Amino acid sequence: METYTGKITSAYRADVVVCGGGCAGVMAAIASARNGARTVLLEKTSCVGGTAANGLVGPFMTCYDPKGETQIIKGIFDEMVRRMEKKGGAIHPSRTGQVSSYGCYIRLRHNNLTPFHPEVLKMVMLEMLLEAGVRLHLGVTVLDVEKEGNRIHSVVAFDGNGLVKIGGEVFIDCTGDGYVSLKAGVPCEMEDEKTGLQPMTLFFWIYNADDKRIEEYLSQDEENRYLPYHKLIEEAREKGKFPINRNKIGLYHMPEEGQWRLNTTRIQGLSPVEERSMTEAYIEGMRQVEFLMDFFKTLPGLEHARIAQSGACVGIRESRRIRGHYILTERDLVENTKFEDTIALCSYPVDLHPSSGSATGTSYKKERTDVADVYEIPYRIMLPQGTENLMTAGRCVSATHEALGAIRIMPAVFAMAQAAGTAAALCIKHGWKPEDVSLELLQRTLREQGQCLKYETEVNR
Ligand SMILES: Cc1cc2nc3c(=O)[nH]c(=O)nc-3n(C[C@H](O)[C@H](O)[C@H](O)COP(=O)(O)OP(=O)(O)OC[C@H]3O[C@@H](n4cnc5c(N)ncnc54)[C@H](O)[C@@H]3O)c2cc1C
Repeated sequence: METYTGKITSAYRADVVVCGGGCAGVMAAIASARNGARTVLLEKTSCVGGTAANGLVGPFMTCYDPKGETQIIKGIFDEMVRRMEKKGGAIHPSRTGQVSSYGCYIRLRHNNLTPFHPEVLKMVMLEMLLEAGVRLHLGVTVLDVEKEGNRIHSVVAFDGNGLVKIGGEVFIDCTGDGYVSLKAGVPCEMEDEKTGLQPMTLFFWIYNADDKRIEEYLSQDEENRYLPYHKLIEEAREKGKFPINRNKIGLYHMPEEGQWRLNTTRIQGLSPVEERSMTEAYIEGMRQVEFLMDFFKTLPGLEHARIAQSGACVGIRESRRIRGHYILTERDLVENTKFEDTIALCSYPVDLHPSSGSATGTSYKKERTDVADVYEIPYRIMLPQGTENLMTAGRCVSATHEALGAIRIMPAVFAMAQAAGTAAALCIKHGWKPEDVSLELLQRTLREQGQCLKYETEVNR
């Protein structure tokens, strides 16, 4: 393999360096800065929000218990949603209820979702980052880490002009793909894309749909409602006229009338971390978007729909998962393991879209979706093995393929990231390593900042 040596053209330092500005990175940076650490957020694209903004992925999945009685994820996430709602860009989950158009009529734990407008998400994220005093650096791709022993002292990035070195005391890997962890030598796992890895999806967004007609058509029978347009898809497939491995139109109503986001393209068999794969995935995704817009002309309520936008990037459900001080398993979710270091709660089921075939995520191996009503997420899944000042948050945390299939949803990602950012700031204040953080202080701080850590006791106060 060839090597290349570059010249550093600028350098600066922060206390906490957050790499990747998706839901996890934005939340970790806000929490870190609000808790007093000089924080920088590095993001390779030109805006914040990651999959939720560039990828158009949404709504925010449930942050409630399955009965819809108690909100179990609050904290800075709830504050963000309320700010978005004030700008007319979201509907608070307390108002969206059980099986609904906002959740594609799915019955299994798709209650109390938060439909939102991606532009308002970007505005509010930016507002909160700047208010908190985060140094935001967009258009910066982290290339490598510099280490001494197990300690990272800087990351090297390309900012469009040259190489920049950013030094820090604590680093948080929120790149989704665990890129910083990989570069730091952390052991990582990844499913085989042919036999296990969840497929990718290019989201798109439509307007001019006839909401009333969609509702009327889908209400005609149970199957049609819970697997929208399933029969018409299968009829078309039999005639060789439906080339996508999907058995329904995954459509999620947005806050505005006539507007829906489509989670329907399916790109299987490609690895999100291999050379050229994301280009192939994008080309395939766009082909499917074009096909679907044409197919919609035959579907009641969607005949006159127009495309508003397709995602600027293909959504990656999973790629690398770091190996941390603890690996969260499906068993923990089913048995609701009680952890000393709980930093967040979640109620979402194991939702694994298959690497081949057309089944939906939540119908895949149904018996395995039977997780506890509410389960706990421990701090240690954000602490990568073999490093002393690196943390992770978001979809690259330490969990099995199955457990990640549940905790990858955005409300849980926001909650984990609030904890990571808060813990990083406590490290700066007290001179601790992430693994030595006082759990009592971390949990107290999270509670004081609105987060819920125990179901039934705290949440029902
Ligand atoms: C198809 C699909 C459907 C989904 N549906 C839902 C849903 O309906 N509801 C829900 O709640 N969740 C859903 N999810 C899950 C959820 O969207 C993701 O798990 C979550 O958004 C992940 O957030 P993240 O911040 O960890 O990662 P990402 O959003 O991937 O953010 C990572 C960020 O890091 C940046 N980055 C990467 N590498 C570098 C680098 N080297 N240097 C600098 N920056 C870098 C990227 O540009 C990106 O902005 C879905 C996911 C997918 C893919």
